Amino acid sequence: MKRMLSGIKPTGRVTLGNYIGAIKPFVSFQDDYEMIIFVANLHSMTIYQEPKDLRQNTKDLIALYLAAGLDPEKVTLFLQSDVKEHAQLGWYLNCMVTMGELSRMTQYKMQVEKAKARKDTSIGAGIFNYPSLMNADILMYDPDYVPVGDDQKQHVELARMVAERFNHRYSETFKIPEPLTPRVGGRIMSLQDPTSKMSKSDPTGKGCIYMLDPINISKKKIMAAVTDSDSHVRYDKENKPGISNLMEIYSILDHKSYEEIEAMYEGKGYGEFKKDLAEIVGAELQRVQDAYNKIMASGEIEKVLDEGAKKAGRIAYKKLAKVERKMGITIRK
Ligand code: ATP
Ligand code: MG
Repeated sequence: MKRMLSGIKPTGRVTLGNYIGAIKPFVSFQDDYEMIIFVANLHSMTIYQEPKDLRQNTKDLIALYLAAGLDPEKVTLFLQSDVKEHAQLGWYLNCMVTMGELSRMTQYKMQVEKAKARKDTSIGAGIFNYPSLMNADILMYDPDYVPVGDDQKQHVELARMVAERFNHRYSETFKIPEPLTPRVGGRIMSLQDPTSKMSKSDPTGKGCIYMLDPINISKKKIMAAVTDSDSHVRYDKENKPGISNLMEIYSILDHKSYEEIEAMYEGKGYGEFKKDLAEIVGAELQRVQDAYNKIMASGEIEKVLDEGAKKAGRIAYKKLAKVERKMGITIRK
């Protein structure tokens, strides 16, 4: 079975974007791939997290994964901080990239831009270095594929390069992973600004649908989504980004192609389209929330995490030992 790996940061409330772009695809992969999924809590520390919120977000994230249908018997689900090898391998790999390579990462450049706009030049060192930790997260498990949204593709490219560099310098150690970007749903945009990504760490929460939003609120958000002055439901990402984004959500949650959706709303206005989409989103949220409430009440989360950390830890222990032998760090055979 081919192996796949992915993580989500517990940096805020889980959005519909995370659900469509990451959580839902994992559920569909779990029968055909060996999935390794972790809550990237070390990564969340690049920005200050209120401890109480971090704990809640972490718990919610795990519960939402399970509520969406991930089966802990099939997948390895764990907290990154429970497998200490991540940070250690991260350090070694950080010593194998250049400042220039890290400076070219789009996510970092965006942070620099944002800081400049705020007239604040202090940027946490973690924001600069975290791609090395991400390289460790990935390369530790020799995955064949790393499913990522558009925004994360560059990180997998960097991981490939570092793996090749290590293999070349010390001999074959890491598998070269392939990024896997979904055809649709790779980038769900904000409902209020369809040119920017829906992100859970967006402090304004503007244009985000949260998976734990009350159903009526989620419906209101869909009804209030920014569209355009035209009235044709037509997929055109460039000229009609708002409607196209809503169609993307519709298409994934209701299993319809853009052509089908266009035909369904031919001659009808945006109001009817949005009303139907609000029902579709509301029903999906309701289903996930019902399951979430059961899981939160069951107390099974800790057990799932303990098991996951054990499974992942076995792989990580071996991998780090191998890396340290090759680098000459350890003197044991
Ligand atoms: P943050 O704002 O803290 O970066 P995020 O919402 O971008 O949060 P991540 O933890 O960075 O979430 O990413 C988790 C997974 O969700 C990744 O696989 C990422 O590609 C995917 N993802 C994030 N946002 C979206 C989105 N708007 N549409 C589709 N996929 C997304
Ligand atoms: Mg992100």
